[in-house]
Amino acid sequence: MKKVALVLLLAVFVPSLLLACLAIRSLRDQQFILERQRSLLYQGVADALAHDADNYLADRQHEFGQRVEALLASPSLRNNTCLFDDRVRTNWPLADVGFVVSLDGQIISPLPSSRPAARLFYADYSRFLANRESAEVFWNNANYNMNGNADSQTAQPAENAPPPPNGAPVLDGQVQLAQAQQQPNMNGGFATDNNGSSFKKSAGKQMLRNVMPQQQGASLPPGGDNLAQYSKIASSEAEFRQLIGDSREGTVARFLENKLNVLFWYRAPSEPQLVFGTQVNLGQLEEDLKQIVQQLDPALKDEVVAVLLDDTARPVALSRARFQAPWKHPFVATEIGEALPHWEMAIYLANPDQFKQSAQTLRLTLGSLIALLLVAIGLGGWLIVADLNRQLTLARQKTDFVSNVSHELKTPLTSIRMFSELLAEGRVSEPAKQRTYLGIITAETARLTRLINNVLDFSRMERGEKKYNMQRCEFVSLVRDTIETYRPHLESNGFRLDCEYPANPIRVNGDCDALAQIVVNLLSNAEKYSGARKEIAVQVSPREGAASEAELRVMDRGPGVPRGSEERIFEQFYRAHDSLSSGIQGSGLGLTLARQIARAHGGDIAYEPRPGGGSCFTLRLAALKEA
Ligand code: ADP
Repeated sequence: MKKVALVLLLAVFVPSLLLACLAIRSLRDQQFILERQRSLLYQGVADALAHDADNYLADRQHEFGQRVEALLASPSLRNNTCLFDDRVRTNWPLADVGFVVSLDGQIISPLPSSRPAARLFYADYSRFLANRESAEVFWNNANYNMNGNADSQTAQPAENAPPPPNGAPVLDGQVQLAQAQQQPNMNGGFATDNNGSSFKKSAGKQMLRNVMPQQQGASLPPGGDNLAQYSKIASSEAEFRQLIGDSREGTVARFLENKLNVLFWYRAPSEPQLVFGTQVNLGQLEEDLKQIVQQLDPALKDEVVAVLLDDTARPVALSRARFQAPWKHPFVATEIGEALPHWEMAIYLANPDQFKQSAQTLRLTLGSLIALLLVAIGLGGWLIVADLNRQLTLARQKTDFVSNVSHELKTPLTSIRMFSELLAEGRVSEPAKQRTYLGIITAETARLTRLINNVLDFSRMERGEKKYNMQRCEFVSLVRDTIETYRPHLESNGFRLDCEYPANPIRVNGDCDALAQIVVNLLSNAEKYSGARKEIAVQVSPREGAASEAELRVMDRGPGVPRGSEERIFEQFYRAHDSLSSGIQGSGLGLTLARQIARAHGGDIAYEPRPGGGSCFTLRLAALKEA
């Protein structure tokens, strides 16, 4: 048994547990992949919207150049460029303050005396535009130089630019500036322009981002998550002239007292010595950018909300009105670019709990499936072990049965042989003794016949070959006749047999011999298990209920059936009184047969303890209605 359990453990349970562990692991991996795919999808959405916003700014910057050209077409402005501030503001809603500055640093427009906003602008920018002071700026020049040729002065995000090899040839000032921006940590603090002057870039300090996206940090390799905290947009410290270099147009962004200022500038080929520019009206720009946020894919609108965050992580535009979230912790976010430094296009989960819930539901479903599988395997294993146990018990009972039956056969045979030899040898001369011995031989032969009949009937029933000869029987006389044949044997063994029969006959439909076998088996058990008080009572009575029944009770005053074995005594080969310990011989088939016969007749047989001690076996059969 232990061996079977060990085999089951090694062959079924351990592999099943291993499989379950693998399944749980792969489930976790699947979930991670799913989350990763989702975050990549949303990252793509954020990137696309940020790209759209960046393109929109580039278009506005280009549009500014066209406005300047249109304004310069009017001779009044060409002759009097100090009117540029007024003209550009009336012509272009994005213009806050228009300015014109000559390459040698002379500010022509606005006139500080013209209006308060111009005075403020003058105070903030006059020294920077006149190249008398370098400022920390974010800048971005269009890919065209004054000759209309493409050049490489657009600042790129740092990770896109290949680092120059050591000892790279001297580049022109703008390219160097761009590269200095791209590798703040590698080039040190200074770079040189083509005029030989030097400008100081922002000493390689990486700026922290205002937002900390949950997924970008989570999806980075271990140890790399710090990178996500830093901005990809780096500032440079330079003078205005150095920034514009040879380019035709561009954008310069700058934080003044923590407030973002964005300047578009343009150099008209007709006025090569002048730089036209405007301070962008950020309020108007925000209005325009709202439309870009609204362009979020309608299929995603239920799942996520796109939000444009400014440099303080304040929501500027939302794809869903009145949406609230911890703004500094979007699901994913992408920086817009140098034109709007530290502004980010952020994606928030519309219902973060739902995301967790669906992951939880998936985990729960698969987890319960695995648990169910384990329970099924456990149950299957338990059933196998239980069945095996049953088979082993049965095998043991069969072995006991063979030895019991052999013993039961031997005991009457010994008596028969002994007494028949005594009689045959003529050693018993008294006629009374001779009759007693002959009586013993008859009783023992009957016992043998009963035993052999039981065994044969049992094997017939097992094979399904037992046939009953059903006919109308009178139950009371059937019982009385059977008992009366048994009475001499019982009384000669010192038993008192009390019988009660009803006055009226009870008819049943059945096989008379089979029913008589039940009576004999019950009576023989009462004899065997009576112990010291040899009193047996038999009662036959009719029972009137919904259907009329015949009832037979066989009672003794023995020790009764041990507790817990009341039903098991009807199982094949089961013996509550072991031959060895009780000294009572038996095959464990008598009650099995009695119940099978009773049930084949539509009745049953049951045990109950007899009041006052002893056993009471009750047989019930359906009675026929009197014709
Ligand atoms: P057996 O040949 O062992 O008597 P049975 O099928 O007739 O087989 O009975 C099964 C078991 O039921 C017996 O071994 C005994 O333990 C119990 N039993 C049967 N009749 C009685 C009874 N009258 N009193 C107490 N125990 C009984």
